[in-house]
Amino acid sequence: MTTAAILEPMTPLLHSVREVVKETPDTFTLTLQPENGAPESSFQPGQFSMLWVFGVGELPISISGDPGKQDRLVYTVRSVGKATNAFVSQKPGADVGVRGPFGTGWPVEVARGHDLVIVAGGIGLAPLRPVIYHVLSHRADYDRLVVLYGARSPRDLLYRKELASWARQRETQVLTTVDYGGLSWRNHVGVVTTLLKFARLRPARSVAMLCGPEIMMRFVARDLEAHGLGRSQIYVSMERNMKCAVGFCGHCQYGPHFICKDGPVFPYEQIGPMLDKYEL
Ligand SMILES: Cc1cc2nc3c(=O)[nH]c(=O)nc-3n(C[C@H](O)[C@H](O)[C@H](O)COP(=O)(O)OP(=O)(O)OC[C@H]3O[C@@H](n4cnc5c(N)ncnc54)[C@H](O)[C@@H]3O)c2cc1C
Repeated sequence: MTTAAILEPMTPLLHSVREVVKETPDTFTLTLQPENGAPESSFQPGQFSMLWVFGVGELPISISGDPGKQDRLVYTVRSVGKATNAFVSQKPGADVGVRGPFGTGWPVEVARGHDLVIVAGGIGLAPLRPVIYHVLSHRADYDRLVVLYGARSPRDLLYRKELASWARQRETQVLTTVDYGGLSWRNHVGVVTTLLKFARLRPARSVAMLCGPEIMMRFVARDLEAHGLGRSQIYVSMERNMKCAVGFCGHCQYGPHFICKDGPVFPYEQIGPMLDKYEL
């Protein structure tokens, strides 16, 4: 391999911030567009980029936009520390660097002709939103779409308007729940697994995609299995601290896998036994 080929995925391309939308008190969606002739970006739902905030650092963030719109890259970021806070504080017109897209995507081709069951917790809806866009723009290729989404409180729900509009689409069921509802919340309260009993599941013909805290994915996968889905029908997206994003540095090693290049999306069949081990 030439030096140029090795360096290419390590070189950030300049993008400018076009739009910043506040989703919740700590979570923002930023739309970026390529600058200086940087190529438009095609990506698979579920893939991520490495985003450079110049002078601060680099962070892995899933692409949360519509894979059909290749002139922009959209990211939804929860401010939890130095780099995420710097990224969500960018203003329209600011420059940031983008490497990628990296990693494996959700198996939208495998799911073609099947029911799709999407289960998300908190910021985990962001990496799954491109799947929902994909299904809604290729509606005839998929059967029922079931979206189960849990957040800590009503004000932590992402994409509220879109959740409502997805729920109005044909053959689509969207259920949301929160841990703490407050007086004005008229919807479900409880962890996301409690939604399964209200979901219009057809286990034999379903493919499930899960993203959220590991403990949530562990319990959802277990309950989906109890409902009759096989492990081969379930996919999960994993997160670990990462640096290079291309399998060189080993920061994101997970058993025999590197999450950056073998994941972040894995068949549950493949990593279920590791996911069952706490703190791995
Ligand atoms: C493949 C991938 C996709 C991701 N997609 C998104 C996304 O779409 N939106 C989003 O908001 N975040 C996403 N993250 C998480 C995001 O990268 C981290 O929140 C970010 O790197 C934290 O950096 P920081 O400097 O702001 O915080 P730090 O100061 O580094 O950390 C703040 C807190 O977050 C924890 N943390 C740091 N990095 C990670 C990590 N990679 N995973 C889990 N916890 C971490 C730390 O342990 C600490 O508790 C993704 C991570 C990966 C690996």
